[in-house]
Amino acid sequence: MIIKCSSINEALSIIEYLRCTLPNAILNHQINDNYNDVLLIIDGQIDQITNSIAERGHLNIVFNSLLKPFFFINNSNYNKDIIFGNRVFSKQDNLISVVAGPCEIESYDELYETASLLKQKGCSMFRAMPMKPRTSPYNYQGVGRKGFYYMAKIKEELDLPVLVEVFSQDDIDICLELGIDAIQIGSRNMQNYDLIKRAAKSGITTVLKKGMWCNNEQLLKAAEYFYVFGKGNVVLCERGIQTHESSTRNTFDISSILYLKSHCQQPIMADASHGSGRKEMISTLNCSAILAGADIIEVEVCRYPDNTIKPGDYFQILNIPQYEEMLNDIRQVLKLVQKKYDWEI
Ligand code: PEP
Ligand code: MN
Repeated sequence: MIIKCSSINEALSIIEYLRCTLPNAILNHQINDNYNDVLLIIDGQIDQITNSIAERGHLNIVFNSLLKPFFFINNSNYNKDIIFGNRVFSKQDNLISVVAGPCEIESYDELYETASLLKQKGCSMFRAMPMKPRTSPYNYQGVGRKGFYYMAKIKEELDLPVLVEVFSQDDIDICLELGIDAIQIGSRNMQNYDLIKRAAKSGITTVLKKGMWCNNEQLLKAAEYFYVFGKGNVVLCERGIQTHESSTRNTFDISSILYLKSHCQQPIMADASHGSGRKEMISTLNCSAILAGADIIEVEVCRYPDNTIKPGDYFQILNIPQYEEMLNDIRQVLKLVQKKYDWEI
């Protein structure tokens, strides 16, 4: 539950009162003053706590989790500006960002070559992952933590914002230290709530990818953590879900983008690379994602996809001319929806 307080002292006195009257009912509490309000967030025996608070009187309970699943995620009172590389999101800016780059890092030189070409062609943020969670232990697992330093160097040399995937507090700490622009919590970690809390507390802009086995409500609940433990600095990403369909790697759920756009205030990202696993579908799926309201496109691109370590994500990686073609296709849709690439303003 959430109680809106007039000051931190009031929040502390409520906790003291509850601890005296209901010693076993409060399991956890925290005070969040990241917004204009001081919010006391309590979990425990909510029904007992509600009664006890009613007896004390005059307390402003703004949210009871027994009655509603969400408080923050669609509440414009707590809508903070989300900084995503060079862009500060606002609903009216009519911009589209594109995050592009290889799946995982293989070497610095190859990374630099791809990043500089992407910058030339147009790209809002460069992505490449130091470590990869692989289903098979025999697949390439990435270069490891030195990859974070490679990405920081790319950012500095090319003046291009960068995004990396993280798995632990140590990874988050390195990203903060190196000034990495945004981190990604991958599909397999969407329900790793410890990692989510740590990312939220760090304040760094986080892309939370929908679990391949998760639904929209689960994604929104995971996003709600970013407000409870941080400042709501989270971008939600549709990256396809697992269904019985086997002709594509995943089933890219366009309706999820429509749903998320109308049920939350976060920027929405679309990743048709993992969503389909098939390079020939990526451009069209991205055009559809933009029509559905996606704010950011994430796409896997590499200078020489044929040279990437196999099997990896080889079948979904665009080369540079294919990337350029995709940008041109999307440009036609942008005219229709009256939006622009963020690097073209
Ligand atoms: C990725 O972005 O390279 C990735 C592995 O994505 P996901 O977590 O969605 O599978
Ligand atoms: Mn990948």
